[in-house]
Amino acid sequence: MKKTFLFLLLAILSTLPARAEIRVDADFPGGNVQVEAIDQAANVVRVRPDLRDTQGGWFYFNFRVSGAENRTVTFQFPVSSISFGALGPNVSTDGGKTWHFLGEKDFLASGKEFPNDAHEFTWTFGPGDSDVRFAFCTPYTQSNWEEFVKPYRSWEDVRFETLCRSRSGKRDVELFRLPYLGEGKPRFYIAFTARHHACEASANPVMEGMVAFCLSDAPEAQWLRQNVEIVFIPFMDKDGVEDGDQGKNRRPHDHNRDYVQDIYPTVKAFKALVMKESVGSQVVFMDLHSPWIRGNEHEFYYSLGPEGEPMNARWNRFREKLAENQKDGTLKYESRWDIPGGVGYNQEKTFAGNGDQASATMWARRLPNAYNSFCMEFGYALCGHAILTPETGRELGRNVMKTWADVLKEENL
Ligand SMILES: [Zn+2]
Repeated sequence: MKKTFLFLLLAILSTLPARAEIRVDADFPGGNVQVEAIDQAANVVRVRPDLRDTQGGWFYFNFRVSGAENRTVTFQFPVSSISFGALGPNVSTDGGKTWHFLGEKDFLASGKEFPNDAHEFTWTFGPGDSDVRFAFCTPYTQSNWEEFVKPYRSWEDVRFETLCRSRSGKRDVELFRLPYLGEGKPRFYIAFTARHHACEASANPVMEGMVAFCLSDAPEAQWLRQNVEIVFIPFMDKDGVEDGDQGKNRRPHDHNRDYVQDIYPTVKAFKALVMKESVGSQVVFMDLHSPWIRGNEHEFYYSLGPEGEPMNARWNRFREKLAENQKDGTLKYESRWDIPGGVGYNQEKTFAGNGDQASATMWARRLPNAYNSFCMEFGYALCGHAILTPETGRELGRNVMKTWADVLKEENL
């Protein structure tokens, strides 16, 4: 009798599905994680950002969890560094299509940020949550850009080009051109770049807005098309973006310190492009970045002004116009966060190494035909005390582009 019971019990147990194992991976474009340990019984996962060739620490992570349906799992990060931005980790339950920061609801309800000293978070996986992504920011890779430009593929007067092949030889580096439609030489040759630092994804929705503005019916957009040539490079460190690298402080130096040595093919090709194509025009250059992890100006957007005149005065005019154009925008602009040239860390020597390095903006500033050159930084989660989403980023980008049109138009008088 006893034996029969045991046999029956075993038979029943063997028909029950085995509980799936929690799996964590970063095997997709932009993926980044180092898995330290997974405690399947306790539902605890220990992870950290994969630093690869980064000098010092950095904070980008972007990983996928599967096999955790119906579990409540705690994700622990190293306690030695700040792990999360102002709204905590970002979560996607639809395979990376849409994202919501874990601390978003709390922030919207009470203005409270995700704790600065938090080193873990917990997530309850529903029965259908077979692919949940967790990332430091809202990731943005080649596929996002492709989706954005898709409607423009059939447009006349836009050019889809390739700047060069990436360093790995595996990828094309996109160059999106809005050719000058006027007669003779354009007065201004404008170049916009993003992702000199691979992980700085918050810059790309802003760039999308800038493109969208140029292709809109706004009178300033029409003026731009008739008076200037514009090139956009959405991914300066293309391999880093797709491979999910930090990119910032990459050894031996990162892409934004490479403007003397040219060890990265994109930097070399970009310099050659601008020098060749801008002959007879004045160069306008703006480089789009994301700042430090959180706090103060890092929860806003701001620019790093050029040292010396006339560029400094032109930069101030840009700031005045931006304040005007973005005054009803979701992401509030506070010009007090901008850092003038020569103030704080915004010194040419900061970007020059031992004279063997230069940032992109420093290089462009020294071109004989430079009109202006500076970079803007866009907070990863909170940006102007509101949440940076693809929509709010694009809204800001449209107004940044309108601002450029406004200030350049004044110069044409
Ligand atoms: Zn940067």
